[in-house]
Amino acid sequence: MVQKGKKEMIRSPKGMHDMLPADVRYYDELTRTAREIVEYYGFSEIKTPHVEHAELFLRPLGETSDVVQKEMYTFRTKGGDLLALRPEGTAAIMRAFAEHGMASWPQPVKLFYEGSFFRHENPQRGRYREFRQFGIEILGDMDPVSDALSIKALYLTLLELGFKNIMVHINSIGNRDCRPAYKKELSNYYRKKFNYLCKNCKRRLKENPMRILDCKEATCIELKAQAPQMIEYLCDGCKTHFRGTLEFLDEAGIPYMLDNYLVRGFDYYSRTVFEIFVEDDAPIPKELKEGEVAPEEKERAAPIALAGGGRYDDLMMLLGGKPLPATGGGIGIERVMHEMKRLSLPLKAKPQPKVFLIQIGPAAKKKSFVLLDKLRDEHILVDSSLSRDNLKTQLNIAAKIEARVALIVGQKEAMEGSVIMRDMDEGIQETVMDQKLFEKLKAKLKTKK
Ligand code: AMP
Repeated sequence: MVQKGKKEMIRSPKGMHDMLPADVRYYDELTRTAREIVEYYGFSEIKTPHVEHAELFLRPLGETSDVVQKEMYTFRTKGGDLLALRPEGTAAIMRAFAEHGMASWPQPVKLFYEGSFFRHENPQRGRYREFRQFGIEILGDMDPVSDALSIKALYLTLLELGFKNIMVHINSIGNRDCRPAYKKELSNYYRKKFNYLCKNCKRRLKENPMRILDCKEATCIELKAQAPQMIEYLCDGCKTHFRGTLEFLDEAGIPYMLDNYLVRGFDYYSRTVFEIFVEDDAPIPKELKEGEVAPEEKERAAPIALAGGGRYDDLMMLLGGKPLPATGGGIGIERVMHEMKRLSLPLKAKPQPKVFLIQIGPAAKKKSFVLLDKLRDEHILVDSSLSRDNLKTQLNIAAKIEARVALIVGQKEAMEGSVIMRDMDEGIQETVMDQKLFEKLKAKLKTKK
């Protein structure tokens, strides 16, 4: 409780959170795994600003998309520019492609990125206002093999992290030639059901009926079951492209299911759209009272997409440039971290220091301050507690971190240029002259597996 007259401590803004060291280990594991995979496939990293001209997102994402309508963080600069915190990664990469003349680079241009994105959403499970994504883009290629490669890279990342039961949900939403006829049919269908639509979908019907397919309200989900499906309206080009993508997925043994109503939140998508889920088969605790729903059950009832993406052949045109076929996708880092913890997926072991450096007295502390770096130059992993001065306390810490060797520097050793090397397992110690230290220490460590 806050005491009277005392100011409440400032907390992080709603929907934005700290990632503490224990969490960062999951973050690192995910990004390291993803990086290794995509670099193997020839992707290079790009970093774009966190802030862009708001206009960059307005048309490509769609004036009627949720992100543009209510979730963008925008602000005016003192110079009068309207800027936005980036809500997604793809539009900025397209901008960079045009701005840096990447059309003259060897095609396709394969890029990846990692970083924070911002959407003013209602914070809830798996939804934050600042969240991180790892994403890939293949620019300048219309071959379905690129759609399949984007999916494969994200799928393999999840697989390598230890996820099981991964399922790719995939659909084709056609292109500018064949989609209008479908949209018309969809509008006709929903117009007849107008009274049953939720308030938001009544508006969506006028603006973009395909967004109704993404509504999470129970009545709208029910209505969707009978709605016309895009697959019936695909032109020959889109049909062939979709079939091609699926064939590559078959070839690679990637599990997928056709989700005929899958659409994505932004207008820039065409043809392939996909989302990747982990299907849950974790046992549910039995000891619940009647009518009570286990938190795990709730989570299972509404699986959330860990990754998503698709093709965006019209995006460059929406930005005012020449058409550029492109495809890609992104992994929601927080969501994957959350699932890794929930499913107790193991992290790769972090190398533990086997050596602990102990110092007693001011001269020894100075010597140790420098010795630490000499040990680093020799690639010897060392832990220390330089701010402590007491031998017993430091030996206790060394034992706690299970160090196998302690290096002890006292006043005498600092003066004569030596170090005491103590075998922590056997309790035996010997004095080693500085010149011989690394040689003797390395030999000792070899005996300690
Ligand atoms: P999108 O950029 O909307 O295509 O989303 C790609 C992935 O980013 C999703 O599959 C989620 O895993 C993740 N994601 C999107 N929005 C959020 C959010 N508000 N909070 C956390 N993760 C998100």
